[in-house]
Amino acid sequence: MLRQLKEPFQYQRSGEAVESTAAGKGKRKPRAQNMSQTLKQMWSYLILYKGRLAAVIVMVILSSAFSLLGPYMAGTAIDRFLMNRDSGIIVFLLLMALVYALHSITMWLQSIWMITISQKTVYRMRVELFDHLHRLPIPFFSKRQHGELMSRVTNDIENVSSSLNSSVIQVFSSILLLVGTVSVMLSLSPLLTLLTFLVVPLMVLGMKWITKQTGRLFKAQQRNLGDLNGYIEETLSGQRIVKAFSQEKTVISAFKERNERIRVSGFWAQTISGFIPKLMNALNNLSFTIIAGIGAIFVLNDQITVGTIIIFVEYSRQFTRPLNDLANQWNTLLSAVAGAERVFDVLSEDEERKDEGAARELAEVSGKVVFDKVTFAYEGRTATISEVSFEATPGETIALVGPTGAGKTTLIQLLCRFYDPSSGSIMIDGHDTRTLKRENLRSHMAFVLQDPFLFEGTIYENIRYGKLDATDLEVQQAAKLANAHSFISRLKDGYGTVLKSDGSGISQGQKQLLAIARAILADPSILVLDEATSSIDTVTEIKIQEALQRLMKGRTSFVIAHRLNTIQQADQIVVLRDGAILEKGSHSQLLMQKGFYSSLVNGQLNNGMLSESD
Ligand code: ADP
Repeated sequence: MLRQLKEPFQYQRSGEAVESTAAGKGKRKPRAQNMSQTLKQMWSYLILYKGRLAAVIVMVILSSAFSLLGPYMAGTAIDRFLMNRDSGIIVFLLLMALVYALHSITMWLQSIWMITISQKTVYRMRVELFDHLHRLPIPFFSKRQHGELMSRVTNDIENVSSSLNSSVIQVFSSILLLVGTVSVMLSLSPLLTLLTFLVVPLMVLGMKWITKQTGRLFKAQQRNLGDLNGYIEETLSGQRIVKAFSQEKTVISAFKERNERIRVSGFWAQTISGFIPKLMNALNNLSFTIIAGIGAIFVLNDQITVGTIIIFVEYSRQFTRPLNDLANQWNTLLSAVAGAERVFDVLSEDEERKDEGAARELAEVSGKVVFDKVTFAYEGRTATISEVSFEATPGETIALVGPTGAGKTTLIQLLCRFYDPSSGSIMIDGHDTRTLKRENLRSHMAFVLQDPFLFEGTIYENIRYGKLDATDLEVQQAAKLANAHSFISRLKDGYGTVLKSDGSGISQGQKQLLAIARAILADPSILVLDEATSSIDTVTEIKIQEALQRLMKGRTSFVIAHRLNTIQQADQIVVLRDGAILEKGSHSQLLMQKGFYSSLVNGQLNNGMLSESD
């Protein structure tokens, strides 16, 4: 419900809304359908740091070698110094200490370097994702929850990061250790090795089952978390509406449902994955018993030495640990791949269609706007706008009037090219808007909407959104023209007052005045005004009307009008119903026609508002 209530306009002056970053301007076109594809895409990020990656690999190889060497030396020490009472134990022990120290150092280095790589990688991913999100067309956003998208930029990327930090190294070093351990064990006693391996099929089967279950559960948990995030964002930003319609109970119970889903999937994911170490431990003990028992018999028969048993015991632990790690890290990797897949999913969405190669930029626009037989349908819908034609000469005010759903907002969205007409054309100063660069087109327009978009920042910054390089003085002048200066001056911190993004702290009318100041500063040739339907106190209302008169002077203005007095003053009134123009002309012309408009006006004269309802 709440999503539908949000206007797709998210900013006042579209041209300046998108700050582009240098990285990732549609170079990559990832399309993640499966795991190997996603891993390949992740690799394409990692390979950017190949030097450091190579260093990490060398460190992993070294640390694995030291890790193998340690127990081997311990076993050798027992045979040489305990059994055979050789001399030189001090030197040998020092050497062993050195091996263990080197093991720690190489582990430490690989970890630091990998963290650097992973942080750089996710930094890059975040920039690309955010950059890409701002290039996606409006229809993309109307299909998705904002919070769910936010979850991709934050949670999912964080998952990728944590898994890169540890899992990648762990998986690699686990494999190395496994191969190394098995090779040394085989060379020492093939029979004992075989006995140690008796538990392996059990381990592999157990792990396979567990990872299958947990992979599915972790994915579900992540999906549920994204869903919950989306819901929280939606209800918090629509808090007023929730309260206004007394929907708190419904919202809380829907929240509980989602929360419960996370609890259930989280419980099972954690429980089952927590079972892995326990299983491994039990199997480990089993293998330890086998080695100790059978090994003792071998020693008594002089087939092997006590040192070899020590080496085997250590190695068998060393052998199950990487298996254990592999199983654990596999889960983290799975959850990271799931996260990465969701990130790549967004990255693979088509950007707002590129401006045609020959797209032009207009330095100046006089404001002549022509709609020529414009027809348009939203995806999967029947025509929302049919054959709409009208003309606005520079400086004219066009009032768009009609019941809710008539297509007024859609016409404006077509004008600023959030969508393109399916047939017909919209011309500005004789140029088809499709031949103009979107950013350039939008830079000639400004919007003053019913619920102006404010962001967290000072009043200076909020007004300056209309023209980023404006000086403080210019901002103040615009505010004066917008009748906003006096209320701003009365605030404790004046223009430095920090506004909240939901605009709490200032009134609806004051928000409107700020939006007008922003538009005045932007100084566009074409204006779009969505009149406020909510009642605003009379004094502020007069101020707004006065400021609007100043703003509209000399600019082509499209007003989605609800008030009779605004409409009366309009140069042209375009009356829409079901996406088609029913009547057009001036107020007096339309009254004389005694058509739909005149019946609307006559029915609504009493309260001065031209109602939106059917
Ligand atoms: P108005 O501004 O006059 O109230 P709109 O232009 O918002 O009317 O809507 C015109 C019609 O288009 C309505 O039937 C509405 O349901 C439909 N519509 C609006 N936005 C979308 C959208 N993003 N996707 C599909 N249909 C839409």
